[in-house]
Amino acid sequence: MYVASTEILGHLLEARFESWWRKSLRVDGREVAAKRGIGETSLTIDLSDHDDKPHLVEVVFTAGMFSYKVRILIDGACVEELTMTSKPPVVGVCRHCGYALKGLRPENDEIQCPECGRHSAAPKT
Ligand SMILES: [Zn+2]
Repeated sequence: MYVASTEILGHLLEARFESWWRKSLRVDGREVAAKRGIGETSLTIDLSDHDDKPHLVEVVFTAGMFSYKVRILIDGACVEELTMTSKPPVVGVCRHCGYALKGLRPENDEIQCPECGRHSAAPKT
């Protein structure tokens, strides 16, 4: 599985390229869209920002020469391009700074990192 994650409009967005060409999107740890497709595939979701203003977020999965990439567009404008890594996300550490989150209590399936203040999905129990 290939994974790329970033923070968009105050949400944790994770793009996954799974087996059998399945591509999926997770927002704050929950799967919100998925599609199978060979070649360039795009997934579109609605995402609200801090002021509850809705935005159209499009994630385009592309295969490069040596890697898979995702392009993220908000309301039609490209805001970020990420290279997907083959490592599955490490459970129990902050995905932003690597701080150990063991023993911290999750809130709404998320743990806030005491080191950098950002949110990571809580490990499933
Ligand atoms: Zn952190």
